[in-house]
Amino acid sequence: MEFEPVIGLEVHVQLNTETKIFCTCSTRFGSTPNTNVCPVCLGLPGVLPVLNQNVLKKAIQASLALNCHIASYSKFDRKHYYYPDLPKNYQISQYDLPIGYKGFLDIRNNDKTKRINITRVHMEEDAGKLIHSEKSSASFSYVDYNRTGVPLIEIVSEPDISSPAEAHRYLEVLKNRMRYIEVSDCNMEEGSLRCDANISIRPTGSKELGVKTEIKNMNSFKAVEKALEYEIKRQIEMLESKQKIKQETRLWDADKEVTTSMRSKEEAHDYRYFPEPDLVPIIVGPEWVKELKASLPQMPDEKFKQYIKKMGIPDENAYRLTAEKELALFFEKCAELYDNYKSLSNWIISEIVQYLNKHQKTIHDLKKLDPKSFVSLVKMVDKGEITSRVAKDVSTEVIEKGTDPEKIVKEKNLKQVSDVSAIDKMVDDVMAEEPDAVEKFKAGKEGVIGYLVGKVMQKSKGKANPKVVTELFRAKLK
Ligand SMILES: [Zn+2]
Repeated sequence: MEFEPVIGLEVHVQLNTETKIFCTCSTRFGSTPNTNVCPVCLGLPGVLPVLNQNVLKKAIQASLALNCHIASYSKFDRKHYYYPDLPKNYQISQYDLPIGYKGFLDIRNNDKTKRINITRVHMEEDAGKLIHSEKSSASFSYVDYNRTGVPLIEIVSEPDISSPAEAHRYLEVLKNRMRYIEVSDCNMEEGSLRCDANISIRPTGSKELGVKTEIKNMNSFKAVEKALEYEIKRQIEMLESKQKIKQETRLWDADKEVTTSMRSKEEAHDYRYFPEPDLVPIIVGPEWVKELKASLPQMPDEKFKQYIKKMGIPDENAYRLTAEKELALFFEKCAELYDNYKSLSNWIISEIVQYLNKHQKTIHDLKKLDPKSFVSLVKMVDKGEITSRVAKDVSTEVIEKGTDPEKIVKEKNLKQVSDVSAIDKMVDDVMAEEPDAVEKFKAGKEGVIGYLVGKVMQKSKGKANPKVVTELFRAKLK
């Protein structure tokens, strides 16, 4: 029997306000423990919370960026549970009337676009942080309340995700949105983006949902993908051996790459939700929503369409360029200087994006990268002044230091050699050195020509014009 996974994600995003959601304490990360606290966020008796308007504003902006409707009337509720990092013994959250609802995100996976529906976006306060002693014999733990009351939004998707790779893409698109509108830095290491996954499996084609487990403790997108892969395999194995899957919360162990049972899953009624009596309901007028909608920057999918339609860029390139706002803006700056957009997009992806992936950096870290120098590099290739090989050799210096590539090419004498007489000798030499390849070509294996051209490129240190080299070989081997 074939099985298919059904995945829904719950993502917590920390909003980047200066102060906490219900008091004026700072939200700064990394302060000395228990210094950003006051009677309100410590949950002392007799205090009253007051909603930070900026939190509401950013929550609405985030909801709009996720194509949600905005509730004209919503409210806060108390969610009860006992845990040492939650000083009030309840968390102020939103239960039945979230601020945003019925949204969606379109993701691209394997060249196809798929819509993932978003159930809701709600506001809530964060809990504190427990720090456990490294000695297992220790009979105490530390608690830091600096994070208590830091504003979060929780974004809950419908179970529309059908593979770990799709989950990864969804998270990328979501993070990208939040960064475009600048409501969060979505830094996973500092906990400003956290993700829990609900997953069940069912026989392929079945409409019924299987028993789901919730996976927590994944601190990178890659970890989400791996944990889901593991969990799918585990659940399929259980079903195949006729075991029952328990509804439970499981923890991802990144070192062992397994999920382990943490506790049986609570139902909503276990939290005894009731309306927060200390906060007034939130009424949002249509004018404010309209104003906030107008304040949003151009979204990645609008840019995506524009790049394809107006600039003629291949879909995949457009998708990758719009994946990060700063990258898209860099591309747009380059496009103002040079109108071979396709070539620009290819070179930005093959050189800059690859550089960033390799060094695990963002374009933000490339302080010296200059659109002018980069455009100049692309132009030199397009005009045939340097070969692609040379451009690749020079690109790192252009990316890291912003050096004018013309200068590097001149100093290192890297201009493309298209002069037939200069290349002719190298072609002859390679033919003499590679009799086997020459024979193969003559016997009809035309593909071998790539190998021969490569040998000449090596000899010329990448400077020979590959087109001229190819033509010479073809003429000589005829
Ligand atoms: Zn406080």
